[in-house]
Parts: sequence; C-alpha cells; structure tokens
Amino acid sequence: MSLLVTGLSRLVTNDPSLGEGPLGVIEDAAVVFEDATVAWAGPASRAPEADRVHDEGGRAAIPGFVDSHAHLVFAGDRTAEFDARMSGTPYTAGGIRTTVAATRAASDAELSANVARLVAEALRQGTTVIECKSGYGLTVEDEARSLRIAGEHTDEVTYLGAHVVPAGLDADAYVGLVTGPMLERCAPYARWVDVFCERGAFDGEQARAVLEAGVKRGLVPRVHANQLGHGPGVRLAVELGAASADHCTHLDDADVDALASGETVATLLPGAEFSTRSPYPDARRLLDAGATVALSTDCNPGSSFTTSMPFCVAVAVREMGMTPDEAVWAATMGGARALRRTDVGRIAPGARADLVLLDAPSHVHLAYRPGVPLVSAVWRRGERVV
Ligand SMILES: [Zn+2]
Repeated sequence: MSLLVTGLSRLVTNDPSLGEGPLGVIEDAAVVFEDATVAWAGPASRAPEADRVHDEGGRAAIPGFVDSHAHLVFAGDRTAEFDARMSGTPYTAGGIRTTVAATRAASDAELSANVARLVAEALRQGTTVIECKSGYGLTVEDEARSLRIAGEHTDEVTYLGAHVVPAGLDADAYVGLVTGPMLERCAPYARWVDVFCERGAFDGEQARAVLEAGVKRGLVPRVHANQLGHGPGVRLAVELGAASADHCTHLDDADVDALASGETVATLLPGAEFSTRSPYPDARRLLDAGATVALSTDCNPGSSFTTSMPFCVAVAVREMGMTPDEAVWAATMGGARALRRTDVGRIAPGARADLVLLDAPSHVHLAYRPGVPLVSAVWRRGERVV
C-alpha cells in the first residue's frame, strides 16, 4: 500500500543529495511511503502516483526525532527533590537511590506501564525512536528485569548496571558483579553497555572494566562522560570506539580533539543542565572542531524529567550556541548516528517511514516558538500514530 503525503511547505530530509544544505531541505515537498518505508521524497510537483493521498496544506515536516539517551524503567516520584533544589534548600533523601528502592518494590506491570506512558508521551512530541537504559535495579535480577521490560517497548536497550554503586557495597566488588554474573544475565536483553564515569560513581579504570567486559559479551559501548566535572570518560569512550559519549559538559581541548577525530558522537543532554541549574555544554565548540553532535532528553525522574525533544532543540539553540538547523539535525540524524542507525533520522528512499508534521511553516519554529506543541501528526513505520 503506497501513501503520498503532499502539501509540505518545507521538508527536512537530512539527505543533502535531495535538497538544500546539510539538512537537504525541499520546499513545497511531498513524500511517498511504501508500507513502512520511504519510497520517494522530492518536490510535490514531481510526485509519483500513490494508492492514497494526504494533503497537509502547507505544514513543515521533519524526520522522527531519535532520542538516544533515556532512563525510562523506574518507579517512584522525586518531585520534592526537584522542588527543594529549585527552592535553594538542601535535600538529603538519596537521589538515584530513592528511585532504586521504588523500582525494586514495583511490579513488572507497574514498571512496564510507566515505560509505555513515557514512550507514548515522547511519541506525541515526535520521537519515533527512543533508547532506554536499565540502572535503577542494581541487582542481577532487578537489572535483568529492567532490560526485559525496556525491550517490550524499544529495540535500543542499554545495560547500565554501572549507574551508581548501591548503598553499602564496595565499588570494586560491585564492578565485579556488573562485569560478571550481572552481565551474563543481562547481555541477552541488551544491545549496548553504558557506565556512569564520574567522580562519586565509577572511575576511569572501573569504567574501562565495565565497557570491555560488555564488548566481550557482544555489547557496544556508550558512556556517561564528563557531566559534573572533568574526567576520563570522553577519552575512554573514543579510545574504545564507543558509539556515543553522553553529556560532554566539562571538556578540555584534548577531549574536543578526540571527539572531532574519532567515531564517537558527542550526545548533549540540555534537560539535565536545565533541571539542575547547571552550566550548559558548549555545542558550538564541538561543532566548530568538527565533532558529530546529537541531542537527547536524558529522560529520568531525578535530573531531567522531560520526554520533549522540541524542548531540547529550543534550549540547545538558546543556550548552547547551536543554529536551529544544527539542533534539528542533532535531534534526528545525530541521534541516529549515536545509535549507529542508518534507517532512521532521515527521509530518503529506503529509510523507515518516520515523519513528523509541524503546525508551522518551517522546522526553525521548533526553536522560534519554544514550549508550543507544534507536533501535529506523526507517522511511524508508515503508520499514522498521532
Ligand atoms: Zn543518563
């Protein structure tokens, strides 16, 4: 079954061979889906015939957002922690460990329903691919359960047993668990292995052990790196050929050079800085050096409780030195690169038919009209889902 979506005032394809500039923008465009795949994209005046036709009457369209960094398997509520942080009063009740306790106590059905709710919320805002990490279980059984539940909702599942050291455990002993029995039990459910490489979490040697053990079990590394301070995470990620180094807030010149010359994508998560009143990463510096930049939500109940990629685009433009074009690319194609996917993040023949319509004449409105729900329709795998 073929479908022609026409009347697109501006279509971002992310394929420079199809249109103007790095975003491959086509004015007065149309797209043809053949079942779940893009069969054709180009000027509406040259569109081929199709079984069905949708005329969108002059709205802009972009590829579905690819959110390559999210922590969706959790239970519990941390409103009070956020409220206290924003009110300037100290909050002492345990951060991630609060969520770990609530997650362990929740049933499978409760956890799965929470993931489903957040995935649906993201979809309504144009996200058609979302990665999901474990990391609030921190026992062999609770991590495996988190990954199994994540896998019910997405193909991009990441083993993050090395999120924090559980209360009362020695860090090296816990790394032994994460790289041993926990990995054995969890690897079948995951595509990726991740580690929180940060002072107070896992140091460079521990992070290396976690990632190398994961690689041996067939997982591909990605790293929480250089979020709260400068550390070895970014360079370790590049050295090990990680798909992505995530956060990248505190970088020295050698980190920037490494990201610019390696294959590792720099994934920036402005929701985390927004929600903790912290300085933003310098996207401009990374882009000017030649690094590949992705934008993601880091959706989690503690430090960034948003599923909104349009919000991340707007903040990245306003606070991180990105142009609207760069931010939209980073939130679509950048995310696809960070997940090593070639089938999503672009609208071109052979790509997955994931298209987002905006109630606006241009993709620039995502930054120009912050906080406005511009996503008016979403197709995923050729099916209208919003
Ligand atoms: Zn994270």
